[in-house]
Formats: sequence, C-alpha cells, structure tokens
Amino acid sequence: MKNISLKDNIIKTIHIIKVIYASSKGFFLSFILQSIFTALFPYISIYFTYLIIDGIIDNLALNDILIYVYWMISLNLIVGLIRVVLTYMTKTFSIELSYNLDSKIASKTFELDYALVEDNETMKLLEMAEEGCYSNGGPTHYCEGILGGMLSSVLSIVYGIILMIPMLTIVNTTDNSLIVKILNNPYSALIILLALLIPAYVSKYIMKRDNEKSYEIMMYNINANRRSGYFFQIASNYKYGKDARLFQMQDMFIELMKELREEADISWRAYCIYNTKMMAISIFGNKALALIAYVFVGLKAMYGLISVGSVVSYMASITLLSLAITTLIERYSKLHLFNKYLDNYFTYLNLETKKEYGTINDLDINNINIKFDNVSFKYPNTNDYTLKNVNLEIKQGKKLAIVGPNGAGKTTIIKLLCRLYEPSEGEILINDIPIKDYTKEVCDMLFSVVFQDFKLFSYSIKDNVAAGLDGDDEKVIKTLKKTGLYDRVEKMSEGINTMIYQRSKEAGVEISGGEAQKLAISRALYKDSPIVILDEPTAALDPKSEAEIYENFNELVSNKTSVFISHRMSSCKFCDEIIVVDHGEIIEIGHHRLLLSNNGLYNKMWNAQAKYYLK
Ligand code: ADP
Repeated sequence: MKNISLKDNIIKTIHIIKVIYASSKGFFLSFILQSIFTALFPYISIYFTYLIIDGIIDNLALNDILIYVYWMISLNLIVGLIRVVLTYMTKTFSIELSYNLDSKIASKTFELDYALVEDNETMKLLEMAEEGCYSNGGPTHYCEGILGGMLSSVLSIVYGIILMIPMLTIVNTTDNSLIVKILNNPYSALIILLALLIPAYVSKYIMKRDNEKSYEIMMYNINANRRSGYFFQIASNYKYGKDARLFQMQDMFIELMKELREEADISWRAYCIYNTKMMAISIFGNKALALIAYVFVGLKAMYGLISVGSVVSYMASITLLSLAITTLIERYSKLHLFNKYLDNYFTYLNLETKKEYGTINDLDINNINIKFDNVSFKYPNTNDYTLKNVNLEIKQGKKLAIVGPNGAGKTTIIKLLCRLYEPSEGEILINDIPIKDYTKEVCDMLFSVVFQDFKLFSYSIKDNVAAGLDGDDEKVIKTLKKTGLYDRVEKMSEGINTMIYQRSKEAGVEISGGEAQKLAISRALYKDSPIVILDEPTAALDPKSEAEIYENFNELVSNKTSVFISHRMSSCKFCDEIIVVDHGEIIEIGHHRLLLSNNGLYNKMWNAQAKYYLK
C-alpha cells in the first residue's frame, strides 16, 4: 500500500467530509455534536469527584458538598440524554447518508458506457469501492468511528490536559529531600505525560503494518468473494434451481466454494495471528506506562504535594489521556486506510464516459436512413475482429432481416447500432451525419430493442411494459393486446398491476419463457421508437404464438423501420431486405427470392429448415 502524506490525507479527508456533508447535513451535524459530548461525558464525573473528595477532607459544609453532588448528577443526566438523542439522530440520518451515497454509485453505473460496465477491470474497481468501504463499516463508520473518534480523542486530550495543569505547578513545601524536589519539579510531570505518548507511537507503527496487511487481504479476497458471491447467488436464486439440480451441479459449486474459503482462511488466519500479537504488545506497553504515571501521582499525594481529590482526578485523567492518545493515533491510521478505500470509490465515481454525443437534435422521425460505412469492430480486450468492413443501409420504413450462423456477429451489429459499443473503425451515419453528432436524447429515442437475452424486472407488468415512462394504463393494455399477452394478464389477480417473478420476500407471478418474450416485445413497442429491433424475437414462443407474431408483424411495428435477427428462415420472407452475416462479414445481401437463387449460405440455411415448414 502506497504511503500517503499527512497533507494528502487532510486533503482527501476534507473532500470526503464535503461529500458526506452534501449527502446528509443532518448526519454530519449530529455526529460532530455526538463526538463533542462523548468526549465531555467522563470528565464531568472526574471533575466533580475531585471537588467532592477534597470538600470532604477539607470539612466543607454538607450543603456545599451536596451542591457538587447535585451538579454532578444533573450534568451527567443532561449530557447523557443529549448523547442518547444525538446517537438516535446519527443512526436515523445514516440511512439517508447511505442511500445518497449508494444512489451516486448506481447512477454512475447506469451512466457508464456499456463497454466499461462489461469490462472486468471496471467491475473490480466498483467492487473495491464497495467492498473497501462497506466491509469496514461504510461511510457511517468513517464518520462516527473514525472522524468522530478522532474528534472525541482530541477533545478528551484537551479536557484532560486542562484538568492536569495543576500537576505542573510548583507547590510550596518545607521538605527539601531529593524525592520531593523531583516530584515537585514541573518537568518531571511533563516527562511522565510525554511518556504516555510512547505506546501511542508504538501503536502508530503497529496500526500502519496492520492496515497494510488488511488492505492486502482485502485486495486478495475481492476476486474470491466475487466468485463465491456468484455461487451463493446460484444457490439462492430459484431461477438457477432447475439446471443446478438436473445436472447435479450442487457438488461442484460446494466444492468450489470450499476451495475459495480455504484460500481466504489461510490469509485471514495469518493476519489474525499478527494482529493479536501486536495488540498484546500495545496493551501491555500502554498499561505499564500508565502504572508509572499512577505511582508518580501517588507519591506526590504521599508527600503532600497534591490533595487526595486530585489523586482521583489525575489518575482518571491519565487513564483517559493515554486512551485518547492511543485512540487518536489508531483512528488516524484507520483514516489513512479508509481514505485509500474511498479512493477507489471516488475513482469509480470519476470514471469518464467515453461515449461522445453531439448537438444535432432535429431529426425527422419519418425520414431516417442509417448507414454502416466500412464498420469494423473488436470487443474491448480482445484481439480478433468480430465485425469486418460492414457496409449496409437501413432505409426508412423498410424491414431488414439479419441471418447467419451462431457467433457470426449479428447481435454485435445491433449493439453498435444502439451505441452500446463504438465501432473500432468506420462510422455509423444517420442521414449521412455521424450518429455521434446527434444529442443523447435523439440517440436514446431512436431504437426500441428486444435483445435475445432481454431482462424483465420483478416489478408489475405495467412497470415492465412502460419501463419507467409515463405508465399510461390504456396504452399498456393496447400494447399487451397487440402481442397477444393481454388475455393472460387480464386473468391475473391484479391485471396489469400484478408483479412478476419473486422479489425478495414478495411473491410475484411466474410467467413462461414465451410470455416473457411477449412482454419484452410489448416493452419495445410501448416505447414507440421510429426503429424497432428484434433479436431472435420468437425463439421462446410456441409455433402458434410465433405465427401470430409474424402475421401481425406489420401491425406490430406499424410500418416503422425494423430490423430483426432470426434463425427461423421462414420469417425472412416478410422482410424487404436480408443480409447474411458469416464470420463478421456480410456475405450476401438482397431479398428472399434473389438470395434463394444465389445458391449461397442463405440457400443452404433455407433448405436446411425447409422441411419443417414446406408442406
Ligand atoms: P450472433 O448474434 O451472430 O450469434 P454475436 O454478435 O453475439 O453473434 O457474437 C459474435 C462474436 O463476438 C462471438 O464470437 C462472441 O463470442 C463474441 N462476443 C460477443 N459478445 C462479446 C463480448 N462482450 N466480449 C467479447 N466477445 C464477445
């Protein structure tokens, strides 16, 4: 772990404090006040105990002593009550703080380029940000435990020193013995106080090593946690249940999880042994020096240099001072580590989106012509081209089919079109203008897509169809009728408001793969974009539903420009133009009859399937 200077630490801490303050002012103020009162609390009793004991020894009137007792109890009650209220407020506001920080991460993830989200390094950074931050107690602990702990310690040191000042003063005495001279010398007291810093210095070193080790372990564990998290997800998510059981994969998962745990155990155990040894050294050293200080105070009292009440107050102050100094160093060291973790958090929040948008926003949605101009593409971190010199045109109002073997690059063409990825070479043009010159709003509005691996969410049917848009009931129902799903939805207990799938404890309705696909198509149609793209739109549908979708295809896409990818060659007949992709290249282009007569790949694919649909 790289060493961060004090100055860097302060700059980082100020930056983090600003973010925390902006995320929840309530939390910030309550934890600051909580720290102040926490530090004050023990000194109330120390101070009044000193006054009461000296009062008794000096034969003060009972009433005067009772006034001290009254003040001690009252102040303890008041400060105790304030602390309870502040603790309650801090806890309540911590929800607001965590929510606001979490939503920053979530918004950032949605903002990022898809290519970055798919990238392993980005995901590792996100995990490091979350793991580092949350496995160590999160921002709430950063404030309450670390910053609050440091503030309380500083205040505790200040209160303690104020109470100890009389110990540094010279008392008039007739005893001229060497021991009294030493005990009465302010430098002796100062040396004793400074000696309290020794264990603190040692603990600084210990904490530094401790932090280095725990950071190393966290980094080491990130990948292991990620893999075991995935296994846990498989075990606990009912969607994986069928495959895991039928292929008896449970033993494999359990074995893999065991291996991961064993790896993590070894490094964790080594860390724990080191940590325990160091803690023992630190505690022993601390106590030994506090003992010397107690003996010094005791001797001062024996030789009449301080009162009995002062002995109680000094001893308690020494205990608190030594604890506060150690806590301050320990928390500073934790701050150093936490700032390092939070660095990942801020690096993630500061990741730059590479996708460029332009300023053009006037586009006639009834006149959109798209062109791929010599587009080639490699997925990030891969060496081979997935698409090579793709030239194609998608003309306004036309229906284009893309066919080809698995892995040929069909979906990749769609991903580039929707700007999930940017071409490595060449350009995509809309009405002869590069697509990146249009605004984000234009790009977002252009396409309604149903991907082969579409995802529905465990929300209501309506929310899934409207996808967070205005959610017009009538429009949702009309769309569901178009895809033939309304008959089923109508019978559900809450109609379009019925929740699908199971979300944590709330049970939703299970829908079949075919119904899910119809729902995904409904979502695409509801968006009402000028271009509809369906990637394998009917793969999960039964033959009857498939026929219905194709028969109604024109109505479904209502003469919009449409692109669809299909393995079912019969569906291509409905299209104005077909492109055949193989090994990332367009090898044939034309309409059904032309391609059939070509005797190429299209002809082969058609004939391979012809026996299923030719009577
Ligand atoms: P098709 O839709 O024709 O079945 P794809 O466009 O999905 O094919 O994939 C084309 C090739 O690109 C395949 O070899 C696939 O493995 C590869 N590929 C797809 N997605 C990624 C990705 N995110 N990273 C790297 N390679 C990918």
